[in-house]
Amino acid sequence: MKPELLPPQQALPDSRGINLYEADASFAALLALYLDPRLHGHLRPHLERMGALAGDELDALAATADRNPPVLHHRTRAGEERQWIERHPSYRRLEEVAFADYGLAAMSHRGGVLGWPEPLPPAAKYALSYVYVQAEFGLCCPLSMTDSLTRTLRKYGEPALVARYLPGLTAQDLDALLQGSMFMTEQGAGSDVGGVVARAVKDGEAWRLYGEKWFCSNADAGLAMVLARPDGAPPGTKGLALFLLPRVLPDGSANSYRIVRLKDKLGTRDMPSGEIVLEGARGFLVGDPGRGFVQMTDMINLSRLSNGMRAAGMMRRSLTEALFVARNRIAFGRRLIDLPLMRRQLLKIMLLAEAARSVMFQAALELERADAGDDEARRRVRILTPLLKFRACRDARRATGDAMEVRGGCGYIEEWSDPRLVRDAHLGSIWEGTSNVVALDVMRAIRRERALEALQPALEAMAPEGAFGDALRAAIARAAAFAAKVARDRDDAHARQAATGLYYAAAAAILASEGTRLAATGDARRLLLAALVLEHRLNTRDPLQPAAPEAPFADLLLPETPVALSQANQLVKK
Ligand SMILES: Cc1cc2nc3c(=O)[nH]c(=O)nc-3n(C[C@H](O)[C@H](O)[C@H](O)COP(=O)(O)OP(=O)(O)OC[C@H]3O[C@@H](n4cnc5c(N)ncnc54)[C@H](O)[C@@H]3O)c2cc1C
Repeated sequence: MKPELLPPQQALPDSRGINLYEADASFAALLALYLDPRLHGHLRPHLERMGALAGDELDALAATADRNPPVLHHRTRAGEERQWIERHPSYRRLEEVAFADYGLAAMSHRGGVLGWPEPLPPAAKYALSYVYVQAEFGLCCPLSMTDSLTRTLRKYGEPALVARYLPGLTAQDLDALLQGSMFMTEQGAGSDVGGVVARAVKDGEAWRLYGEKWFCSNADAGLAMVLARPDGAPPGTKGLALFLLPRVLPDGSANSYRIVRLKDKLGTRDMPSGEIVLEGARGFLVGDPGRGFVQMTDMINLSRLSNGMRAAGMMRRSLTEALFVARNRIAFGRRLIDLPLMRRQLLKIMLLAEAARSVMFQAALELERADAGDDEARRRVRILTPLLKFRACRDARRATGDAMEVRGGCGYIEEWSDPRLVRDAHLGSIWEGTSNVVALDVMRAIRRERALEALQPALEAMAPEGAFGDALRAAIARAAAFAAKVARDRDDAHARQAATGLYYAAAAAILASEGTRLAATGDARRLLLAALVLEHRLNTRDPLQPAAPEAPFADLLLPETPVALSQANQLVKK
């Protein structure tokens, strides 16, 4: 080897094997704000183990599963008509870790998961899933569907129906597990769910479902929630009823629906999304037949929150990879991280990733309070959910793409995690409601549920004392006034702009509140992040002037070491 050439492992830094939990310098401290200390202590070893798995075994499995998509079979080799989906063993192992080992789908619904006697709060579930999704995104759809279907069934289902299926839905034994899915979309009914034409026909005491469902992720799940229109019901969403569709009927026979084919997708290639034909399938009515869509909204909202968490996780993975490459790759005789223009790019990825993580944890906290009966919190999580789903999923497209570029040419090569992250990140903005539809839902939450009136004072209370806090409060007020006006005037054309402003105002406030509390233990990094969000996302800037404050921010934040409050205050004042 020529002496001027670095050994290959140094020339191309490879992050395989790093612990994705430990590599994330702020995570442990942040968790202390969102988890009760006893639970935090209990979960720490589980998070560490998940971090080690995600940075190594799960990452390798996800890459293999991505290259070996599921296959739909229609007949046995002996000619028997039977449908099943064959998944690669790597996907099975990913399922084992998520559903069985960690109980991620079960932990909200019963005690005993990970040795904790009670159901775990949303913040704990999202903390663990946030690390898992950094390796594997596709499987997080079945996980979230199982979790959210269980919640909706428990909320609205007849006790006997719940009792029959709850043990399977919350099982950690893969043979006993019943996974969940949601069959809503039809060719003529995507964003406009009111266009659903699938029929529900009364057959004595039972209901039979007929029609086609066009997008069915986790197509062969044991249980699906399905929207269909009972004969004679009115048009639009008001005429839709919600049904639980088991793949296997209580007598052991197969239910009457067929998976016609699987979709060939850009991302989530290892998870089967299919097209379904309902041929008189038996469905169990869930709740009130006139409120099917309203009830389904509960499942959709939980899935949207999970989507936001996944976007935050993918951005964190991208940031961890980009920082790793930047610290270890040499160009022009210097580490990439020492190059001013690169530091600026890294900081931009960090801003998006950290904003999403903070909004995600705040939403998780509000969800827990809402479920305990706090109506103000219910209205806050009602609006934080679409805000996060809309903006974080869009930001994930950009953050994953920008991080791919940090790895240079290798970032475009499928052996590395970057292309998969980019492909998967594009889905978040489409399923569970496109960006337009979800931004319009933010406006609906403001108009119909007075959600902004619950959110704005809470955000303002998070801003610290002093000049920075005043500037932050003013930005929150401006963002809220703009969103309120767009909602009131039904000015749909500006729904995305208004939702974007409100999201970043919320992110800046939550980051500032976290920063103030963590500064007491010696780290004011998140105050600086709040200032960055304010400067780059909420304040007006002249595109023809240098973004002056960035350099010292990058110097302080990129090494990911604690920042003293005095340093933060100096920068924040400027
Ligand atoms: C991989 C994948 C898996 C999926 N899995 C499932 C699943 O398991 N279950 C399920 O039920 N569905 C699933 N979907 C469907 C998904 O939720 C829909 O594709 C999505 O909601 C959009 O509906 P659509 O495709 O009919 O698009 P359309 O509704 O036709 O939208 C087309 C465009 O019009 C825009 N638009 C629509 N209404 C408005 C408006 N009022 N103002 C401005 N713009 C508007 C949209 O933003 C979009 O850009 C999946 C989709 C994908 C890609």
